[in-house]
Amino acid sequence: MSDVASKRELGRGERVLPGVFRLRLPLPWPGVPHCNAWAVASDGGFILFDTGMHEPDSMEQLQRALDMCALRLDDVRLVACTHAHSDHCGQAPVICAQAGCELWMHPSHELLTRMVEDPQAVFARRLEVARQSGVPEEPLRRYAEGRRPTGSGFAGPVQPDRDLAAGVTIASDVGDWITYETPGHAPSHVCFFQPERRLLISGDHLLGRISLYFEYGFSPDPVGEFVASLDRVQALGARLCLAGHGRTFTDVQAHIRGNRELVAQRLALVRDALRGGDITAYDVVPHVYGESLSPQNAQWLLSEILAFLTHLQAIGEARRVAGEPERWALISS
Ligand SMILES: [Zn+2]
Ligand SMILES: [Zn+2]
Repeated sequence: MSDVASKRELGRGERVLPGVFRLRLPLPWPGVPHCNAWAVASDGGFILFDTGMHEPDSMEQLQRALDMCALRLDDVRLVACTHAHSDHCGQAPVICAQAGCELWMHPSHELLTRMVEDPQAVFARRLEVARQSGVPEEPLRRYAEGRRPTGSGFAGPVQPDRDLAAGVTIASDVGDWITYETPGHAPSHVCFFQPERRLLISGDHLLGRISLYFEYGFSPDPVGEFVASLDRVQALGARLCLAGHGRTFTDVQAHIRGNRELVAQRLALVRDALRGGDITAYDVVPHVYGESLSPQNAQWLLSEILAFLTHLQAIGEARRVAGEPERWALISS
């Protein structure tokens, strides 16, 4: 057994409410040890919201979690995914094939399709974006070596049987779940709200530990979209959040406020960095995070900075200065 495998956690399942189960599934990522899938009783079986990532032993882990809740894989009536990241839908093809059920997901999953078809091309594109953003040759080489993709995390092509657009309703024994589009973290992101019990399946839009992530390059303004999604979810008045990672939490409005504050704080730091003169996205990183890029955090932090810069551009505060590498400048008012 490899070092990483020996340290991995095991799949676990627990009932959080009558008819609602948390399936905690291990992830191979540093700092993100597991993700959640949520099983909700429906029609003598259950709906599976999210699936966990596909890895060599991931079905065993899922099985283990289901066993702890006395649930059977064959009884999955429907798989509905919050978004097209591997930790939320990677196992969908296997589960749907085994249970003979449909997969519902939002159609904006271009990155997923590319990841499945050609992960090397996605990786090469990320390196190219990093180069354009001012990452010097030496760290670029280290990222290239440190983050060579091993597997995509997807069991195969993930093709939804039905598009999860706003308003699509999923019936369950605890009541209907209404789909709300919540792009920002990813263009395909949706949340599911159960209005009578005020339960929110929030995916990665709202997490117990406030942390931002923006899928950059697949929509015009991920930060602006994320803030608009916070507005949409705030209006629902959810009482209990079933998030994509970590425990359930009740202070949903405080988490929404916390996310807004973090976005505002980071935008202010990006603006400050731009006040010193034209600057590359790479050089903005230490202004915002107080640390420089490493092979582990490069993709995350650079995407986030580019998303903030693109947002400042969208609201007329900053512009791109063409060149190699690309720089950014404040628009003086
Ligand atoms: Zn995600
Ligand atoms: Zn996630």
